[in-house]
Amino acid sequence: MTLDPHPAASYADPSLHAHGLFIGGDWHAGRGIPVVNPATTERLAEVADASVSDALRAVDAAEASAADWRAMPPRQRAEILRRWFGLMTDHAEELAVLISLENGKALADARGEIAYAAEFFRWYAEEAVRIAGEFRHAPSGANHILVDHDPIGISVLITPWNFPAAMATRKIGPALAAGCTVILKPASETPLTAYAMARLGAEAGVPAGVVNVLTTSQPGPVVNAMLADPRVRKLSFTGSTGVGRTLLAEAAKTVVSCSMELGGNAPFLVFDDADLDAALDGAMIAKMRNAGEACTAANRFYVQAGIHDAFVAGLTQRMAALNVGPGTQAGTQVGPMITAKAVTKIDRLVRQAVAGGAHVTTGGAPLPGPGYYYPPTVIENVPEDAEMAHEEIFGPVAPVYRFETEAQVIRLANATDYGLAAYVYSRDLSRALRVGKGIEAGMIAINRGLMSDPAAPFGGVKQSGLGREGGVTGIMEFLEPKYFAVNF
Ligand code: NAP
Repeated sequence: MTLDPHPAASYADPSLHAHGLFIGGDWHAGRGIPVVNPATTERLAEVADASVSDALRAVDAAEASAADWRAMPPRQRAEILRRWFGLMTDHAEELAVLISLENGKALADARGEIAYAAEFFRWYAEEAVRIAGEFRHAPSGANHILVDHDPIGISVLITPWNFPAAMATRKIGPALAAGCTVILKPASETPLTAYAMARLGAEAGVPAGVVNVLTTSQPGPVVNAMLADPRVRKLSFTGSTGVGRTLLAEAAKTVVSCSMELGGNAPFLVFDDADLDAALDGAMIAKMRNAGEACTAANRFYVQAGIHDAFVAGLTQRMAALNVGPGTQAGTQVGPMITAKAVTKIDRLVRQAVAGGAHVTTGGAPLPGPGYYYPPTVIENVPEDAEMAHEEIFGPVAPVYRFETEAQVIRLANATDYGLAAYVYSRDLSRALRVGKGIEAGMIAINRGLMSDPAAPFGGVKQSGLGREGGVTGIMEFLEPKYFAVNF
């Protein structure tokens, strides 16, 4: 392993992470991908642009370290992950600043992300030593059934820009705990956090080649080449449903196991009997964490007729009171969107809803730059066929729809190809659970605006994905059961 050329520098300094790919424990110099601060549009750094041959070298490195890593006692793997958790916690503030610079999110959101992200290393440090097998008598009485779990093998991990740290640790944690070596390809907009974490991993004692990180401007060819390599046995992807579909088709060619965390279109249901203040508090978290750039973000607010007007008034007041600005500026609650393209998309969805008869109660148009700003927006009377009812808004826009009955709102909640998350507010717990059972989603929050937890299974149904991350199940995505039929 080569020495880090900038050992004493702050992890918050973007230029520190600008010099190369991390393959086999070495930093490989390169340039080609600019990283832009969305709060100012200024260039923060330029990172290396991996070619197909760089990617295959990363697979070589992952292969070279695989046998030793899987043979390492689980307790030792766990201790490395636990040290990585400790280092992320020690450097939490610097990492939060770095996330805020490259992603734009408010520092409070970035701090929350680092705490959440680090927890995946602590959780999987604890799970690494609890991988259980099975022992049974065959029903026929002829033999015994013994089930062991092998690490699935070299894993390609692909992450989006909206949680640059947490989406990576949610994959690296279970993969390493299971005994797999990995190649991480972070999003081009937010690679600096991934490289910073790779440095911390090396400091924590992750052996060279066990975690490799590469950025590329040609994700299609680079990832396809890795999937075509028979040494790669796992693809774990978080991102849009469109790219997920493309990758599933690609992975089918070599029958690579896939875990897919894809897009969402979360409904947020408020019944007449809900605690209004609690529902508003929850709505603000479900909508505005990360300025709405979250796969679990409430995308459709369904509010029962008796409480609808009070909810719209309360939400409008709270949204209008938020401070918009650069994420790193003191007092900022809502940072910029990731790109100009994201602002254009949000603007289009709002304009289209307004043209269909919707009414904006606060916000409703992009803010002047520099930087990619869209204000917190509430919009009511949105037609059911508006595009924003069916597409991820991925921004600080809260559309509110009125409903009358339980059966009607379950039908509306399920009128989407997505099925990641849903929120239900009601003081009647049996109703909330009944409605939750009726909603086609992988995760239901009841009287809460946040469900993400490293100890719980995260994932969706329908076109929101395949498999689960986190919790006890997350590690199973990186293990293969091996069955022994035994006589003794
Ligand atoms: P994206 O455009 O799908 O990109 C995700 C990742 O895939 C990036 O690293 C991207 O690289 C890479 N990629 C793009 N095209 C590829 C290809 N042909 N082959 C291989 N990799 C490719 O998504 P995004 O805009 O970054 O993230 C937002 C989406 O992620 C939303 O839909 C959101 O709901 C979803 N998300 C889901 C979860 C979940 O847990 N379910 C969590 C967070 C986000 P480049 O950056 O280089 O293009």
